Amino acid sequence: MVSTGYGDSTRSVNAVGGQAVPGDPVAPAPVPASAYHLAADESAELDTYGRASNPTWRQLESALAELEGASAALTYGSGMGAITSVLRVLTRPRTTLVVPADGYYQVRRYAVEYLAQQGVTVIEATAAQMCEAAARADVVLAETPVNPTLDVVDLHRLATICRSRGTTLVVDNTAATPLALQPLSLGADLVVASATKALSGHSDLLAGYVAGCNEELMARVERDRLLAGPILGTFEAWLVLRSLGTAGLRIERQCRNAAAVALMLRDHPAVRSVRYPGLPGDPSYPVAAEQMKRFGGLVAVELADAAAVHALVERSSLLVAATSFGGLHTCVDRRARWGDPVGDGFARLSLGIEDTDDIVADIEGALA
Ligand SMILES: *Cc1c(COP(=O)(O)O)cnc(C)c1O
Repeated sequence: MVSTGYGDSTRSVNAVGGQAVPGDPVAPAPVPASAYHLAADESAELDTYGRASNPTWRQLESALAELEGASAALTYGSGMGAITSVLRVLTRPRTTLVVPADGYYQVRRYAVEYLAQQGVTVIEATAAQMCEAAARADVVLAETPVNPTLDVVDLHRLATICRSRGTTLVVDNTAATPLALQPLSLGADLVVASATKALSGHSDLLAGYVAGCNEELMARVERDRLLAGPILGTFEAWLVLRSLGTAGLRIERQCRNAAAVALMLRDHPAVRSVRYPGLPGDPSYPVAAEQMKRFGGLVAVELADAAAVHALVERSSLLVAATSFGGLHTCVDRRARWGDPVGDGFARLSLGIEDTDDIVADIEGALA
């Protein structure tokens, strides 16, 4: 397999590489079959039915496992598909589950609207409250940097608390991506993520995955995927795999653009406040600098009001008003629109892969 001594772009490219068998295609091809020829030796079959396993998932899953530093990964039809599968496996009546109070809101809604009805005790904790809440929990789902406030959870500290009391720690690695953060190496039991965002990076598909090193736990998650069926189509799996080859390049540029835009916004008179975990002086910076390899492509900015956010988009030539993040284009999302507990002028910027000078000048000009 791939040497972990390589840099991220090398690892991204190698993760997509085919085996060095003469005559084989360099680029892997999708295999869309639902059924596979059965062998007379009934124990010898690798693939039988597309919902259980298939060659396209296997290629993508081995690439994702390699990037996350996991022994295995499982793909899903969306990030929510992956997260809810893990939560179903880990919770029973009377399980105490901690979910982010400030993170991706539909995870919280699933816990409250579905799991709590099944007898699970759901505790909502902000990034700052995570460690304290973990001391009372059986299962903790943490998200870092938290979307959209960009607070950072100290994963080493959280994992130490969880380990000391046998609590299972699951980390949502969507915002950082494995090229910026490796939660398993910091002590998480499982990683869950949406590959819809920066990892696939083209705003043209939805996908999710679970990654981990605990075989027994991964087997239970795989069983849930088989029985519940929230699977990824093979064409989408192939598109994610194809996109992973450029993940190193794209994410590097997004992070550089985010750092440059955050610096410009910090000193701009129209800006009330800016958050970026990579900005020295940001409350998240000390922990982020300790545990992250890069600081991600998201910047949170607070302008005067909703009208100021709309005016920013209208005056800009490059900004796209859209929810979701991690794509090629720089996007602006006014989060109060979706009910996030933030001010009316709060916007999440997702930096794209435009040239750094162009995007900084465009936003600076549009704010003036
Ligand atoms: C988008 C997102 C999800 C959900 O992923 P989908 O692919 O949209 O289902 C979960 N967690 C975080 C942090 C996200 O940003």
